[in-house]
Amino acid sequence: MRVRFAPSPTGHLHIGSVRVALFNWLFARHNNGKFLLRIEDTDLERSKQEYTDSIFKALDWVDIKPDEPAIIQTHRLPEHTQMLNKLLAENKAYRCYCTPEQLLERLKVTHGDDLLYTKYDGHCRGKTFEDSGKPYAIRFALPSDVTEITFNDIVRGTVTFDIDQFDDFIIARSDGSPMYNFVVVVDDAFMRISHVIRGEDHISNTPKQILLYQACGYKVPQFAHLPLILGPSGERLSKRDAATSVLDYKENGYLPEALINYLVRLGWSHGDQEIFTRAELIQFFSLEQVGKKGSIFDMAKLDSVNGIYLRDISDQDLFNYIKQVYRPEYFKSLAWSDEQIIQLIGLYKPRVKTLKELLHELTLLYNGPTDYLEADVKQHVDADTANYLGQLIQMLESVDTFSVDILSETGKALCTKNTIKLVKLAQPLRIALVGKAASPGVFDLAAIIGKDETIKRLRTFLSVIK
Ligand code: GLU
Repeated sequence: MRVRFAPSPTGHLHIGSVRVALFNWLFARHNNGKFLLRIEDTDLERSKQEYTDSIFKALDWVDIKPDEPAIIQTHRLPEHTQMLNKLLAENKAYRCYCTPEQLLERLKVTHGDDLLYTKYDGHCRGKTFEDSGKPYAIRFALPSDVTEITFNDIVRGTVTFDIDQFDDFIIARSDGSPMYNFVVVVDDAFMRISHVIRGEDHISNTPKQILLYQACGYKVPQFAHLPLILGPSGERLSKRDAATSVLDYKENGYLPEALINYLVRLGWSHGDQEIFTRAELIQFFSLEQVGKKGSIFDMAKLDSVNGIYLRDISDQDLFNYIKQVYRPEYFKSLAWSDEQIIQLIGLYKPRVKTLKELLHELTLLYNGPTDYLEADVKQHVDADTANYLGQLIQMLESVDTFSVDILSETGKALCTKNTIKLVKLAQPLRIALVGKAASPGVFDLAAIIGKDETIKRLRTFLSVIK
């Protein structure tokens, strides 16, 4: 079994496209087949090297890599031309000299204010033209003995198209460049693709491609059209709904495995299981389990899956990921040791949904607060707070080893002496250290930021509440 992912480098890799890549990849892995990559760059105006690079980067990030070197479609132009000539020679395609103006004249219909075209009228079909040097497009001659095209879609079941809805469509433009429906067929055959798994937005191309497979003398592959990812409005997911570029999810601090896990569940299920390892996905994946309906992209659900992966990954592995992949420069800006940072990662990761949030919290802890959350101050600071914090500063000044145990004993001793609950002291201390009452263990934080900085932040806060 050989499958392929065939993105067009006309933009950054879309989140929906990476799901198509993932389903192809899982199908190949599950069946011990091959997963291939083809860059469909025949639209020279819109294709950019920058986007090809970005597609490779995105696939690399989610660890979906092709099993053979990627095929660059424009490199195969000689083969495309050869097949065009063969179809012309066999009268399965023909030269069309109609100019855009003539087509407009003959085929235009107006629909309200819209200008539409009817089907091509076959004007140039069956004619022989002197080679006048004039530009021509190449059209596929629809077979006259076919009335409908039927295929068995692995996801959608039997799909039938009436041939009447098609015309002799163009397979090469007048500048000689071949069109999508044609090149995709020639290249899929060359790459010996057994299953074409792609978005259902391509389903209306499939009958045309089947006719081309037959005309070229190729074996027709099997097809599976995947439902699209939808935005909350039920329309195709757009930039207005959520970030659509895969690399934006990397930037925003999602773990690649979490994103993959979230995406696979959009349209595929295995009982009620929500969280899968890659190995489990490979073991369980099948196209038969893919639903027919589009699934709505749910950011809150993605956040929650990412949170699960953050809690699951070891502190050391998360540290490595941030350092090697996410923000290679970030830790250099902190004068903490690797051990301290790893410890902090462990303290913060159950409390955040993304790495962006995690680093935001670390930066806040490192720099100290620039202001204090008003609601938290109102709730946790009262007339006695200044007194307790003043005592705490005095006690901390004589503490030599700023360890979590010693700090926690010191805090408890202060509370016992004043017969107050620990929260009366701990919450104002938190606000003093990070500007808000929500944080991991406050003595853990104080131990990491150290004696001088803790006392300095306490003094600043004290002067503010006084
Ligand atoms: N290049 C097409 C796209 O990006 C894919 C076509 C296909 O998978 O056949 O939508």
